[in-house]
Amino acid sequence: MNILFNMSCGHAEEREVADPSKYLKIDREYYAKQGLCSACWAKLRAEHKQQSHVKQN
Ligand SMILES: [Zn+2]
Repeated sequence: MNILFNMSCGHAEEREVADPSKYLKIDREYYAKQGLCSACWAKLRAEHKQQSHVKQN
């Protein structure tokens, strides 16, 4: 089942939750603390790439 979560980055994104009655509360807290939507993940990864590139030079 797909649930819309509020991520720590301030965006909302759907994530699959296998058993919402068990895990919805846990997942919601987890994403609110350290979850990122896929757009922000991509941005973060791109920034990391850039940083390691700069360090190598
Ligand atoms: Zn985001």
